[in-house]
Amino acid sequence: MAIERTLSIIKPNAVVEHNIGAIIHRLEQAGLKVVAMRMVKLTLEQAQGFYAEHDGKPFFEKLINFMTSAPVVTMVLEGDSAITAYREIAGATDPAEALCGTLRSDFGGDNVTFNAVHGSDSPESASREIAYFFADSEVNTY
Ligand code: UDP
Repeated sequence: MAIERTLSIIKPNAVVEHNIGAIIHRLEQAGLKVVAMRMVKLTLEQAQGFYAEHDGKPFFEKLINFMTSAPVVTMVLEGDSAITAYREIAGATDPAEALCGTLRSDFGGDNVTFNAVHGSDSPESASREIAYFFADSEVNTY
């Protein structure tokens, strides 16, 4: 298996509900290493830029309002097949459809928008998303 990096965001509902620690604990227990981390209250422009591929979709405004409603925790995680591994731990986009024991099932809200975490969906997305939040010098090796 190849060592990969992925971008993780702990979304506002999980932050407000004090689930930052629980989420990071699960990710570390699963063998993913936190190599960069920052809490940030996204501006409208930052949220719109990050989710630009969804601009124009019916849920876009709701998603942007949600993502700017409270701080988020952004992280770069590193590990074996980190992109796929993370998405398995996160679960399906809609918390109602996510398997029991996944982050979105356990920490997501009652609506697909409020699904607790984001994770990159491909190596290309991971590169773009990591660079969106972190300079190379902020991503650590240990
Ligand atoms: N989303 C939403 N309504 C939808 C689909 C997605 O509000 O019908 C939100 C949800 O928060 C999701 C984000 O938009 O995590 C990005 O959607 P994507 O399809 O990229 O899902 P993900 O990769 O996050 O599972």
